[in-house]
Amino acid sequence: MKHVLLSILMAFYMCITVVMAQSDAPVSGSEIAYEPYSATNPEISAEQYLELETRCNDNSARFIKASNVQKSSASVSLGWPIKAASGFTDCEYHFIGAYVDHNAATGAVTDYNCESNTYDGHHGTDFAAWPFGFYKMENNYVEIIAAAAGTIVDKHDGEFDRNCAGNKLLANYVIIQHSDGSRALYWHMKNTSVTTKAIGQQVAQGEYLGVIGSSGSSSGPHLHFEVWSGSAANTYIDPFAGTCNKINATSWWANQRPHTEPAVVKASVHTTDVVFATCPETGTITESNSFTVPFQGPGLAPGYAKFYIYLREATVGTTVNLSILNPDASVFASWTYPVTTYYKNTAYQWSKKLPTIPGDYTFQTDYNGKKCSSNFKISNSTDLKSQFSLSEIKIFPIPIKETSTLKGENIENGSYKITIQDIAGQILFCSEINIDNMSINLDLPTKQLGAGYYLISVETGNKRIIRKVFKI
Ligand SMILES: [Zn+2]
Repeated sequence: MKHVLLSILMAFYMCITVVMAQSDAPVSGSEIAYEPYSATNPEISAEQYLELETRCNDNSARFIKASNVQKSSASVSLGWPIKAASGFTDCEYHFIGAYVDHNAATGAVTDYNCESNTYDGHHGTDFAAWPFGFYKMENNYVEIIAAAAGTIVDKHDGEFDRNCAGNKLLANYVIIQHSDGSRALYWHMKNTSVTTKAIGQQVAQGEYLGVIGSSGSSSGPHLHFEVWSGSAANTYIDPFAGTCNKINATSWWANQRPHTEPAVVKASVHTTDVVFATCPETGTITESNSFTVPFQGPGLAPGYAKFYIYLREATVGTTVNLSILNPDASVFASWTYPVTTYYKNTAYQWSKKLPTIPGDYTFQTDYNGKKCSSNFKISNSTDLKSQFSLSEIKIFPIPIKETSTLKGENIENGSYKITIQDIAGQILFCSEINIDNMSINLDLPTKQLGAGYYLISVETGNKRIIRKVFKI
């Protein structure tokens, strides 16, 4: 009974416990803890459905001539309703949290493929951002786009978007009416992300509508995508065709994707353990693509980093191949992960010794016919210092006199620390300045220095130069 109950608990945020591991052994991932949605505690309440129907019908009557609606039994051809924003570099970014429920019996669920990836009474498809849903939301990484062209017949913005529970809150949303009179609901958008186009305006297929969020009755950033074949909420269909789809025989997708899509959605290198937060926290991602050797990560053995993979629907009995590739693409290290437990989405991590020779390396995974990788740079501290060219910072006159100046052009903006030490190492002057115009022009307090040798150092971040100067 408990197992059955657990299987019907659905929602979209997740709390993962990943065990710390200092060895090269894999550690277990764990499944997302779903908040419960149910027929009595849905994402869109009966009152909200009624309100939406009314608003859409009013706006449709106002903006769309009835003669323009093509009465046709043919459905529109839908594209995928989400996409990664430009500049986003993870391999993938979502999993399907729940399909439409085709089982009319209370307390029982069946998705279109006769499986159980749905919850009781669900009328839409849930596209959940994974991993780090709130981080993705904050950075606008997962965009909601129009699955089909049409007219905006309703939209709403301004609602709280870090909700963590099934409740009656209203979402930020857009509703598009297609040329055949069918409608698509895009629900749970990020606050202030909703398209600025007005109700009554047209959108093209693939056009931006908003950003994935957690507004409305929601427990983590996801899109609830729902299609009505007509003007009423009870005309909802399931865009996925399959044996157990009791509503429509044919797929509404231009290209229907598989029910499950096993994949490594992200492979990344981290300075220490990731903190997977509970809704509505963002978590601490600790990812880095640059390591300076000797490297010491918090809580890790010297020279080790954490290598993470984020999996979607990995199939029991399959194997994830992992490797660290040298700059010349030869193998620095490789290992495998045999999948022994099915999770809709989970993360695994390993502690691995980093390469020590400077260069550009790749953490690569090969799974289910696809490669997913991330690049990282190994540098040593002397490299970093030498990058900070002496020619960029000048001290004059040399030898230094009563008044001396430290000057540099085309330097990086940021906080700089300038110190003057005597030859015994005693600090005689120390100043921190902020550079925001890519140049430095600082009068050094050399008047009070006696004759002799001094060390003038300039530091920013982990870069530093030291000049030995003489005062006559
Ligand atoms: Zn949903």
